Amino acid sequence: MRRQAWQLYLAVTAVAIVGYSFTTVGSWTQIWWQLAIGYAATAAIVVGARRNLPGERAIWWCFAVGVFGNCTGILVEGYLSWRNPGFGFPSWADLFYLSLYPAVAIGLARLIRKRTAQRDWGTLVDATTVTAGLGLLAWIFMIRPAAADPSIGLLGHVVSVAYPVGDVVLVAMTVRLQLGLGSRTPSLWLMISSLLAFLGGDTAWAVINQVEWNPPALAQNLLKVVFLAAYVLFGVAALHPSARRNPGRDRRPATRPSNLQLSLLTAASLIAPALLIFQVLRHRVTDGLAIALGCVALILLVLTRMVQLLRQLEEQTARIRALSHTDELTGLPNRRAWTVELPRAMEQARRNAVQLSVAMLDLDFFKVFNDTYGHPAGDRLLKAAGAAWQERLRAVDYLARYGGEEFLVLLPDADAVLARQVIDRLRDRTPLGQTFSAGVATWDGTETSDELVTRADAALYAAKQAGRNRILLAEPGVPAPAL
Ligand code: GH3
Ligand code: MG
Ligand code: MG
Repeated sequence: MRRQAWQLYLAVTAVAIVGYSFTTVGSWTQIWWQLAIGYAATAAIVVGARRNLPGERAIWWCFAVGVFGNCTGILVEGYLSWRNPGFGFPSWADLFYLSLYPAVAIGLARLIRKRTAQRDWGTLVDATTVTAGLGLLAWIFMIRPAAADPSIGLLGHVVSVAYPVGDVVLVAMTVRLQLGLGSRTPSLWLMISSLLAFLGGDTAWAVINQVEWNPPALAQNLLKVVFLAAYVLFGVAALHPSARRNPGRDRRPATRPSNLQLSLLTAASLIAPALLIFQVLRHRVTDGLAIALGCVALILLVLTRMVQLLRQLEEQTARIRALSHTDELTGLPNRRAWTVELPRAMEQARRNAVQLSVAMLDLDFFKVFNDTYGHPAGDRLLKAAGAAWQERLRAVDYLARYGGEEFLVLLPDADAVLARQVIDRLRDRTPLGQTFSAGVATWDGTETSDELVTRADAALYAAKQAGRNRILLAEPGVPAPAL
């Protein structure tokens, strides 16, 4: 049912737009025709708004006000030129046309706020980059010429500058919307297309005014069709069933910009230097200061983005590093972490001239436990044992999972007697009445970390041989077995 509403609306308005292009420029038929399409779009937005969550309807009310105001400008202009064909600029019609900008900007700002969960600096910088580039173009080709036009008064200057400024603001928000996080619904794309149509139409008029061209009737009609299409696209965006998902947040982490977005950013950041080259080739450099400032702003923006990306990379590297040093099941440091930690601890023991011991623990008959209670229960035991031991160890001790049901404990500042005591405290902490055997080796100050671990392993083997559930001290200087 809802699906049909937007399709029906689109079909009817598409026919209406085709019909419009046959009307006579400046006739009342044409004006009424435009109004019908514009007000129908307003109605579509109002209908669409009512289907959204109450907190999100206000966004669409803003858009409705904007489209209604803009469209009413056509009526006012028609009335004014009917009363007095040579009416001047600016007029009351401009007030209505311009009302589109603040209304739509407020709606977009609300929508962007809803879609953005946390601060999204990356997108903000990207959007600013595009806006700075296009803003410079608007400044040179639209804003400054409008401000300098001697044929209009102060109010005329303000009004004619307001159009391109409004356009630049909308560009900024459209880009922010497109680049930012949040669900990419068909409704959102329709809305963005509508905004681009408004902007394209405005730019076309600005260029036409610049070159002082008086377009033939057909071209004028075509241009007006662009604005009508903008109205219709907004209406379809509001009626489309996906509109309700527009304010939805996208929980995916920020990814790198797509190739299209990167090309857009590259093009935007080259606008200022490209403009300068263009003017130099034409031997007529104007707005040197504006172009220089544009270059500076764009360079700083690109650098800011680079710094952001580097920070992001550093954070990710730190996270991956932590992950690669952690045992997934128990959350304890893994073998890789151990091989980094032990030499570091040995170096510290040597410098401080203190003892250092290492214990290797292995659960007794763990295969039987697995066979009796199942592998998942074995996993839970490994996890629980790791946590329970960790709690009982001294703060300086370092417990790691070496692999399987074997664990290693690094005991800084502990001779064999103390190390044995500390490990002994773990025995009644092992969950479910399980026992373990352990071998303890104290560093002799000369052997390598591998040799030290091998001696602890040999002591563990001896503990197993002696009947398990016990802790044995390693023989000093037992050589590593030959390969
Ligand atoms: P011993 O007293 O001689 O150490 O006997 P054991 O059964 O503990 O030793 P054995 O080396 O024969 O078997 C080790 C068992 O540990 C076999 C394997 O299924 C189990 N195991 C190794 N890693 C894991 C694990 O991540 N999860 C579970 N549930 N079991 C594991
Ligand atoms: Mg075992
Ligand atoms: Mg084992």
